[in-house]
Amino acid sequence: MKTVLTSSPRKAARYILQGEVVAFPTETVYGLGANIFDEDAVKKIFKAKGRPKDNPLIAHISELSELPLITQTISPFAETFIQHFFPGPLTVVLPKSNYVPHIATGGLDTLGVRMPQNEFAQEFLKATGVPIVAPSANLSGKPSPTTWQTVEEDLHGRISCILKGKQTEVGLESTVVDCTKKFPIVLRTGAITLEQLQSVIPTTRLADARSSGLKKSPGTKYRHYSPEGKVILVVRAKDAIPFRNSAYIGLERHEELSAFRLGKVCTSIEEYARSLFLFFRMCDEKNIKTIHCQIVKETGLGLALMDRMKRAAAG
Ligand code: AMP
Ligand code: MG
Repeated sequence: MKTVLTSSPRKAARYILQGEVVAFPTETVYGLGANIFDEDAVKKIFKAKGRPKDNPLIAHISELSELPLITQTISPFAETFIQHFFPGPLTVVLPKSNYVPHIATGGLDTLGVRMPQNEFAQEFLKATGVPIVAPSANLSGKPSPTTWQTVEEDLHGRISCILKGKQTEVGLESTVVDCTKKFPIVLRTGAITLEQLQSVIPTTRLADARSSGLKKSPGTKYRHYSPEGKVILVVRAKDAIPFRNSAYIGLERHEELSAFRLGKVCTSIEEYARSLFLFFRMCDEKNIKTIHCQIVKETGLGLALMDRMKRAAAG
C-alpha cells in the first residue's frame, strides 16, 4: 500500500471519507483514525497495528454536538469534566449509542470520548465531519509515537496517509476516566491530573488493580510502552552505572553523562513526559540494552509519567 505524507488536514480527511485510515497528530500522541461508523475502516486500524480485537479505541470529536450521536446518557459528573477539560487530554468513558459498532469499543457497551485541543487535529476532525476512532499510531506493543517520523517507521506501507504535524506537546496518552459508575474512576493517568479531576469532582478515585474498573478497560491488560532494551528505574542519577550499551534519562544531571551511549537530562516533568517515548525509540534504534530512568514524585503529571515508566520496566 502506498502511504501518502501530507501537511494538509483537508487532504488527509479525504482518505477518511474514502474508508481509509489516517495517522494524525494530537496534543497527547499521534493517533491512527477511521470513521467511527464505518466498520470496515475500523477493522483496518486493528490490522495495521496488529492490535488485539478486545482493546477499545477512543472516539475523537471536534464539536460537542457530536456527543449525543455516539453516546447515550451523560452523567452529571461527565458533564462537569467536559465543561472543565474539553478540549484537552482527557477521555471520558460513557455508555455508547447503538450507532457505534462494537468493533470500535473492543466489544464493550461503553465508549471513550475525547476532544483534542491540538489545532491540526481539530482542523482534520472538522474536515472529516464525523467522529474519528483512534488508538495510538504505533505497532502494537511499541511505545506510542510522538513524531510523524516514528509513525512512518512503524506504519509505512500499512496505512494510506500520515498527516504530518509537530512533535506532540504532552507526549503521554490521554487521561481516561470512567463516568459510568457512582464515582468517577481514573482508568489511565495522563496530563489531566488526578488532582485536577478531584478539584471539580472530589470523589474521583484511581482504579485499583483488582477492581472491576480495570477489567472493563481491556487496554490495561496488554504490554505497553516498552522499548526492546531493559528499563531500570533508579532513585538518583548516581545509581545509574554507565557502560557501553546503556542509556540514562532523568531530571538530575549525571556526573558521567557522556559515558552513556545516550543520555538526556530534562529540565521539567513536562519535558521528561514529552521526551520519554521518543527516547525509548532512539534507544531501540541504537540497540541499547539497558535504559536507566530516574523516578519522579507520583503527583500531578508525575503520576502518569511513573505509570508509563513502571509498565516499561515490567515489560
Ligand atoms: P491507546 O491504548 O492509545 O490505543 O488508547 C486507547 C485506550 O483507552 C485503551 O487501551 C483503554 O485503556 C482506554 N479506553 C478506551 N475506551 C475505553 C472504554 N470504553 N473503557 C475503558 N477504557 C477505554
Ligand atoms: Mg496505544
